[in-house]
Amino acid sequence: MLSDVAYIGLGSNLGKPTEKIKSALGAIEAHSQMVLNASSSFYASSPMGPQDQPDYVNAVCRIKTSLQPQELLATLQDIENSHGRERIGERWGPRTLDLDILLYNDLILNTQNLTLPHYGMQEREFVLVPLFEIAPDMIMQDGRSLATWVAKCDLEGLYRLDLS
Ligand code: ATP
Ligand code: MG
Ligand code: MG
Repeated sequence: MLSDVAYIGLGSNLGKPTEKIKSALGAIEAHSQMVLNASSSFYASSPMGPQDQPDYVNAVCRIKTSLQPQELLATLQDIENSHGRERIGERWGPRTLDLDILLYNDLILNTQNLTLPHYGMQEREFVLVPLFEIAPDMIMQDGRSLATWVAKCDLEGLYRLDLS
């Protein structure tokens, strides 16, 4: 039963980022325990942290899944690895593919390797804006609307990509 709903943030800034994001969405779609339910436009964004790296391409998707949160994390890490992700170098350094679980149902979880909702969502325009595209009515964990969160974030450096 694919009855659990999760939102995933996708990011890439190395080796044809747009193709990497498309390919990651394809891998999600191809997995027997995940169904792609919605996906946002792609956005270009300035890097967070170290500035001496290429701009990112970001998107957010919604899936329905039968994977439990830890299984989903492991599955997404497999997809990262198969897209050339190397777990070396500085935090927030360049990477071929980053797949973060933003939300899993209404679950609040604080374990060593998994925090839900994703801890950085509220400050990240490259997450909130694409999320708003596919979930405009979403209410966040603090009881405010996603629209309110979007209105508070700095949109400078974020551009919607026209891929047509
Ligand atoms: P950030 O987490 O700030 O976006 P990052 O995505 O670059 O940084 P990673 O190197 O991809 O960080 O992941 C570091 C660790 O974060 C992973 O090994 C994973 O166990 C942990 N983690 C905790 N919560 C989550 C989550 N909600 N989604 C994905 N990874 C998570
Ligand atoms: Mg990340
Ligand atoms: Mg990550």
